[in-house]
Amino acid sequence: MAQVTCSFCGRNKKDVDLMVSGISAHICNYCIEQAFQILGEEDKTKKQSKKPKFNLKKPKELTAYLDEYVIGQQEAKKVLTVAVYNHYKRLGQKEDKEDEVKIEKSNIIMVGDTGTGKTYLAKTLAKTLEVPFCIADATVLTEAGYVGEDVESILTRLLQAADYNVEAAERGIVYIDELDKIARKSDNPSITRDVSGEGVQQAMLKLLEGTVVNVPPQGGRKHPDQKMISVNTENILFICGGAFDGIGRHIAGRLNTQPLGFSKKTGAEAIDRNNLLQYVTAQDLKAYGLIPELIGRLPVITHLDPLDKATLKRILTEPKNALTKQYIKLLAMENVTLTFEESGIDFIVEKAVEFNLGARGLRSICEAIITDAMYELPSEEGEQTLVIDLEYASSQFEKSKFKKLQVA
Ligand code: ADP
Repeated sequence: MAQVTCSFCGRNKKDVDLMVSGISAHICNYCIEQAFQILGEEDKTKKQSKKPKFNLKKPKELTAYLDEYVIGQQEAKKVLTVAVYNHYKRLGQKEDKEDEVKIEKSNIIMVGDTGTGKTYLAKTLAKTLEVPFCIADATVLTEAGYVGEDVESILTRLLQAADYNVEAAERGIVYIDELDKIARKSDNPSITRDVSGEGVQQAMLKLLEGTVVNVPPQGGRKHPDQKMISVNTENILFICGGAFDGIGRHIAGRLNTQPLGFSKKTGAEAIDRNNLLQYVTAQDLKAYGLIPELIGRLPVITHLDPLDKATLKRILTEPKNALTKQYIKLLAMENVTLTFEESGIDFIVEKAVEFNLGARGLRSICEAIITDAMYELPSEEGEQTLVIDLEYASSQFEKSKFKKLQVA
């Protein structure tokens, strides 16, 4: 009788523990085990490729993460996290041709004074979702063919942020800053061409709604020979932000002329005139000079609250990477124990408010106060301590350039 050998590895029957026979072939226990392993691995890679490649968290989880970095702005956090959650849930959805309910994209518009955390919110969200993120400035954009950047340049940045991985870029987040600066300049659009206002708004439409755009990978028009990369913007989330200075007038005007229904509803809760932005609607954005088509493609509207003293104080001390924590860490590396007294912190906040610098000003004021110490102390021997109290903070501040600002 012919010797029975494994048809896969050729081992002899007597060298293996088990030989399974088929119609015209045999397989040994070693090859069965190996084949089983291969099956398992195949299965795993299939599952992985089906899994959406982002870290989707529920709105409340997303807010909890944002809370670690961004202070206050609860309304904006709620609206943003719901929109972002729905957007990415939509991406996770299986294609179903029969299903007529198509979930549309929820591009977002944030209205809030400069330095209140608009960019920071968008950036922190992208970080937690682990998707590519870029910031574009609407003021440098012009209608194609004019001096300035074409709207496609926005996607060049996103591609760069995604390391030219087109698939990753196609589910990224783009933050477009200073959207208010491309508002229509006048109510009469036809007299002169408005290439950096309405023209850009028009050019942005196709980007926002979702089409395939040819993107110059190096950006700009400086490299005319570069090969374009096609990027589909259908699943890119656009978050736009702007201060919309003066929009309060439109909001106030609308609130005062509301028909009966509105006043009935809010009769009890009086209008908070100090924070009119909280009532912002699409109608106000239109009155401000955004074209209705653009507003239509930015269906989620939210606002950021102005930062009061209490909030600024929390921003200075509470977030995971709060400024005070950063200075303490920096100086600890030099064997300096830095402490911020309440009075010192209050002084910094007072000055930020006085100079109307918002959260961004906190840093420059801290620098003005601590720079001398950061210059001197590293050269000193042994352990040192530095206490930022009212006295220290104010005497350092007096010496700084801010003093000159105050006189002027
Ligand atoms: P803008 O609203 O002009 O986009 P940013 O988001 O750029 O403002 O804010 C500027 C900086 O101020 C941020 O990098 C952040 O450090 C700080 N900041 C602003 N608002 C907040 C906030 N609500 N919580 C924590 N930090 C904030």
